[in-house]
This record gives sequence, structure tokens and C-alpha cells, in this order.
Amino acid sequence: MGLQLVAIEPSMAMVSIPTTPTIIEINAKMGKLYDKLTNDIRFVEGISACINCGTCTAICPAAEVYNYQPRAILDAIQSRNDDAIEALLKSDTIWYCGECMSCKTRCPRQNAPGLVIQAMRKLSIEMGYFVESEKGRQQLALKRMVGESILETGYCIYMDHIDTGNFPEQGPIWDWERANAEKILPKVGANYKGDGPGALRKVPKEDLDELQRIFEVTGGIDWFNTIEEFSAKKAKEMGPEIGTDKNSEYFKEVFNTNNQEKHTNQ
Ligand code: SF4
Ligand code: SF4
Repeated sequence: MGLQLVAIEPSMAMVSIPTTPTIIEINAKMGKLYDKLTNDIRFVEGISACINCGTCTAICPAAEVYNYQPRAILDAIQSRNDDAIEALLKSDTIWYCGECMSCKTRCPRQNAPGLVIQAMRKLSIEMGYFVESEKGRQQLALKRMVGESILETGYCIYMDHIDTGNFPEQGPIWDWERANAEKILPKVGANYKGDGPGALRKVPKEDLDELQRIFEVTGGIDWFNTIEEFSAKKAKEMGPEIGTDKNSEYFKEVFNTNNQEKHTNQ
């Protein structure tokens, strides 16, 4: 919305009143987010190759379950309209993709909308838009549940982090198994927290240090910090306390909320 300076009466000071946006203002708004996306090679290749035929939607496993159409997403982005792109970046839609790349196998242009989605997700996190959708807010759960586990143990998911509070589907026997892990795991051939090879072995400190360094150099740590930062702002707005672990009120809220009817087409 533009502003126009007018004097209502000669004796009155100049006041600002809103005007309808001009073509110049509309054009200035168009393309800013699109331009940011063009810094990502996954986006550039994916968006320019698409002829909007819809084959990817037909083959996409996520489209089978969710209200999700990769072709429609690429079509909306190709409009270069920032309002449409911003709406997508703030939506659940970009988080439905399973990144399986089945789309690449069938696209007549050998294109991969999944890669365009990856670029969209990256920008959504950078801009802090991810906290505006239910599935986007779950990035905090992924960061604390999987990301921190990788850096702490070398495993995406490690037995010690799976409790029946966050994973009730494990059932009561799981609590007993965790409590008795050191006794029962060797009986099934695991090397629980041991040196050398074997399932659940301890990943050596020098390897964990290397992982940490890789995350630092590639921007993974910055990404984690950005997720925490915007999630903390959102938590303040929503009410639950953000905390720092997997048991805080906000973590539980984003981890457990799933409005299935809204997301699925079943
Ligand atoms: S199959 Fe390929 S060309 Fe067709 S809509 Fe999907 S990405 Fe575009
Ligand atoms: S990568 Fe994403 S868009 Fe492509 S087929 Fe898999 S779920 Fe669908």
C-alpha cells in the first residue's frame, strides 16, 4: 500500500493517507523471494525445466496421502509472485514432501520437484516463515530429536533418547528394555556403548568432533540456531515455554500436534 501526502485544508498540516498500490510498487514486490530462491542451484534447475505436465503429481507418494501436488507448487512458483511464494513458505504444503525423488524418475524433463521443495524449505527456515504452519513448527522437534542426536551420539535416533513419554507407541516393555539394556543387548549381538564395531556401538570422540565440524562448515549449526531462534519467538506468541530440551511445553506442543484431517486427502 502506498502513501500519498495531502493537505485537506490550507490550515491543516500535511497528512498521510493510504492509496492503492501502483504498478511500480506491485512490480517491486514481485520477485524478491523468487530472487532469493534463485541463489539455490536446486531451485534454478528444477524450476526452469518444468513444463507443468503433472506426471510428478501422478507418481508422488506424498500426493497419494496429503493435500499436496508438486506440479501445482511449481506452477505457483513460476508465476514469480511473491505473495504466492510467501504463502507457500508459510504453509504446511512444503513440508509434506518425503524427499523420495520418485518424481525425478518419471518426469519427462528428468526434473525433480523434490529439490525445488528442498530449496523452499531452506528459505522458509531462513526467513522464519516455517513457524507459521503446524508441519513447519515441527522443524524444532526434528532439530532437537534427530539433529542433536547426530551430534551427541553419531546416530540419527539412539535408544537412550527414545522414551515412552514422547514415543508411547513403544509400549511398557520398552521401558523395561531400556532399563536393562546393558544386560539384554549383548544377547542379541549388539555392542551397546562399546568400543569397536557392532550395533549401538559408541562412536569415537574424534568422529563426533568431525561431525560437529562438518555441521559448522556446511551451515548446519547456523540452521539449527535459526530454528531455535524463530521457534522461541513463536513460543512467546503462542504461550508455551520454549525450554531447551525434548520435554519443554513448546516442544511437546509441536511434537504432538497433528490435525490429520487438514493435511490428508483420505
Ligand atoms: S513431471 Fe516434471 S515437467 Fe511435469 S510437472 Fe512435474 S516437474 Fe514439471
Ligand atoms: S521427492 Fe517429494 S515431490 Fe518428489 S515424489 Fe517424492 S514426495 Fe513427491
